[in-house]
Amino acid sequence: MNVPVGKPLLGEIETKYALDAITHTEISGFSGGYIGKFEKEFAEFCGTSDAVSVSSGTTALHLAVVALGIGEGDEVLTQSFTNMATFFALLYQGAVPVAIDSEPDTLNMDPALLEAKITPRTKAIMVVHIYGHPVDMDPILAIAKKHNLFVIEDAAEAHGAEYKGKKVGSLGDVGCFSFYANKIVTTGEGGMLTTNNVALANEARSLKALAFGEKNKFMHRAVGYNYRMTNVQAAIGSAQMTRIDDILLRKRTMGSYYLAHLSDIPELQMPVEKPYAKNVYWMFNIILRGSLAGRRQEFMDKLRTRGVDTREDFIPFNGQEIFIAKGFTKLEDCPVANNAGENGLYIPSGTDISEEEQSYVVQEIRSVVAEMKS
Ligand SMILES: *Cc1c(COP(=O)(O)O)cnc(C)c1O
Repeated sequence: MNVPVGKPLLGEIETKYALDAITHTEISGFSGGYIGKFEKEFAEFCGTSDAVSVSSGTTALHLAVVALGIGEGDEVLTQSFTNMATFFALLYQGAVPVAIDSEPDTLNMDPALLEAKITPRTKAIMVVHIYGHPVDMDPILAIAKKHNLFVIEDAAEAHGAEYKGKKVGSLGDVGCFSFYANKIVTTGEGGMLTTNNVALANEARSLKALAFGEKNKFMHRAVGYNYRMTNVQAAIGSAQMTRIDDILLRKRTMGSYYLAHLSDIPELQMPVEKPYAKNVYWMFNIILRGSLAGRRQEFMDKLRTRGVDTREDFIPFNGQEIFIAKGFTKLEDCPVANNAGENGLYIPSGTDISEEEQSYVVQEIRSVVAEMKS
C-alpha cells in the first residue's frame, strides 16, 4: 500500500463551478460572481463581517501587515515555529520580527513569553494556529489590549478551528488564510483576509488591486499590489465551501483515529486538544522522543520503504541560516521550536484518507518503532 501525506478532495462540484466560470469567460480577478460569492461564504463561515480574497496565504499576510500600517522598524512578535511566509510578510515591509518560542504541547506561541519582549517599538502580535490547533488567545488578547498592539492571526493551517466556540480568523484584528493545494480548503493557490473592521477590509480591497483611484481610476491613491484571486479560483473555493462540514468532520475523524491507535507509544509525542480548543488536525504531527529522538531521518526512511509518506517539520526562524547570518536571531533562541524542527514530522493526514489506509499507517509505525528500539 502507498499512503501519501495528503491530497486535495476535489469533485464534481469544483469541476462544475470552475467550468461555469470558464464557459462565461469570467476568469480574471475582476470578472464574474464567484469572487464575491466565495468571500461572502467565507466571512459567514468565520463569523466576520468581511472577507477579502487574495492570491495566496503569503500575500494575505503581507496585505494585512500593509493595511495595518506596519512598516520600517516596527517590531512584531510572532512565533518562530511556522512556515517562513509568516516572517517574510513582515520583512517585506522592513518590520522587525521578534521570534517567540512555542508551548511544548500545542507548538503554538507561548503567551507566557510575550511580555518580556515588548518594547516601545512593538506594534503587533502575529499568532499562528499551527497544524489546526488554535492559539490560547485570551492571554494574548489581554496583553495586546494592555500595550495597544494589533493582533494578526495566521490561520493558514486552521480553517474551521475554534477557540472557546469562536472560529479562528475572527479573534484578532485580521485573520489570514491560505488555500494552497494541501490546505484544509483549497483553490490550488489562493488566500483570504478576514476581519470585522470594515475600513481595514476596504483598504485591503483597494491595495490588492493596484490602489486604483476612486474618481479617476488611473490616478492611484497609494502604492498598490496585484494580489487578486481569479474568478476560476474563487469558483473552486465556493465549491469547497459546500462541503466544508464534511471536510472538517473527516479531519477530526482522522485525528481521533490516530490518537486512539498511537497514543500508547511513549516514543511519540501526540498532538493535543486543549479544553479551549476545537482542533481540525490540518496535519497529524508527531514528535520523536526518548530513544527515537535525533533519529527522524531513519524513521522517515523506514516508513517510506513501506509506502508511508511523511514530511519533516518546519525549520523555525531561529534556525534559518540567512537570518542567523544577518544577526536577526540565534539558533539557541527557541529550544521548543528547535526540538520540533529536529524531531517533528507529520504522517498521512489527507482529507480523503480511508480507515484502511490509517490502519496500515498505524501498523507500519508500530513496526518501525519496535525495529528501531531493538
Ligand atoms: C501555507 C502557509 C502559509 C503560506 O501560504 P501560501 O498560500 O503557501 O502562500 C503561511 N503560513 C502558514 C502557517 C502556512 O502553513
